[in-house]
Amino acid sequence: MKLGWGDGGVQVKDYVFHRDLTKTYPIITHGKGVYLYGEDGKRYLDGCSGAVAANLGHGDKRIAEAMALQAEKAAFVHTMRFETPVLHKLAEKIGKLAPGSLNRVYFTCGGSEANESAIKLSRQYFRNRGEPEKQVVIGRWLSYHGNTIGSLSAGGDIKRRQPYNGYLLPFQHVSAPHCLHCPFNREESDCETKKDWSCVAELERLILEIGPSQVSAFIAEPFTGSQAGAVPPPKSYFREVRALCDRYDVLLIIDEVMTGFCRTGAHFAIEHYGVEPDIITFGKGVSGGYSALGGMIVHDKIIDTLLQYGDGKFVHGYTYSGHPVTVAAGLAAMDIYESEHILRNVKGLEGHLFEGLDNLRKKYPFVYDIRGKGLFFGIELASNQDGQPFPPDLRIAERLNEKAMELGAVFYPGNGTVNGYAGDHLIIAPPLIISEREVDELISLLDDALKDLADSLKE
Ligand code: PLP
Repeated sequence: MKLGWGDGGVQVKDYVFHRDLTKTYPIITHGKGVYLYGEDGKRYLDGCSGAVAANLGHGDKRIAEAMALQAEKAAFVHTMRFETPVLHKLAEKIGKLAPGSLNRVYFTCGGSEANESAIKLSRQYFRNRGEPEKQVVIGRWLSYHGNTIGSLSAGGDIKRRQPYNGYLLPFQHVSAPHCLHCPFNREESDCETKKDWSCVAELERLILEIGPSQVSAFIAEPFTGSQAGAVPPPKSYFREVRALCDRYDVLLIIDEVMTGFCRTGAHFAIEHYGVEPDIITFGKGVSGGYSALGGMIVHDKIIDTLLQYGDGKFVHGYTYSGHPVTVAAGLAAMDIYESEHILRNVKGLEGHLFEGLDNLRKKYPFVYDIRGKGLFFGIELASNQDGQPFPPDLRIAERLNEKAMELGAVFYPGNGTVNGYAGDHLIIAPPLIISEREVDELISLLDDALKDLADSLKE
């Protein structure tokens, strides 16, 4: 088998355990700004920042140099014995960005580890308070929190959970608010005006059924991301959830792995809803995808409890927690978020991107819905005007993305399943440094891919 990695075409065996062993993937040699370049010279507009991670685009020398400099100074110290200036600087920047009393920052190597850490910390918090039986985590269907056993148990991604059913922790799940396909057949405006929320009531019922003395945390993505396709919650949902968590002394963990760091037009998406969680987890955008970095920002009340009622030790940790080189990438990324006024760019282009996508909705009847905020949008594809999903074996979202890649753009396809609903969607989430002209190019490439899909559906 020929491996195309720019080695002069030497015939070699394939040593890579690919994510899908039946596939071959284009080899990318470099990137610049919003574009990635294949070794065959092909250019791709990165319409989803990889996995909604490369927020600052590709090939930014400032981040690369900061990492190289740190590697040369001290590539690794063990945080059980030593710390580094970059660790303190980055923690301070993130702690200051976070809402209210969330100040202390714990670093991991990505989003799954971040959520794993938050799950364990919520347990330790209650153990230190003398309530060891408070340990059940409630998550939501249609949510994704990572692939480690704890985070997978908290998540509600049926397809990813199913093969590991025997391994999963006995966590519980409620419906995510997806008003377009409300599992309770409610109208969003009804829930808002009557303050009568079926999905919040479901959460309360479950807490009471398990027993509030057993429940440690409720974990939720602020926008249901990869499973539902960038679905924002109804405006007051998180306020209602916060009140419930307070009533039953349950920690609220908000998973900002996909939405953090300006993606939705706020530093953290939860800011749109005026709610202060107990733990925010993050990943992806914190380093703009330049290094494997994630973590959690923790409320002072949890830190105080560990110090006052415990021995101040969080019984957890990774060799690479706070790795100096990955943290240096995060620090350089934070500088760029600030100096390049990334938040301003996101807010400035939100309307333009939405308008472009909405025009596509008007043009193609199978584009059923456009939703999102900032530079984080989902396109839902349906087989008729009532939102009837396409049969899963048609692989509509995957096919659309394959066509887009052929044409020179890449998006993030998905197909979530819950309450009998299975829908195809595409996440549109370009690097936050994108320009207006590049947004137009993105829309035009997506238009061409949709046109091809429209033609193939006629056949
Ligand atoms: N949480 C959310 C909301 C995510 O979207 C993801 C990844 O897509 C994760 C957690 C897991 O992060 P990672 O893949 O870095 O472990």
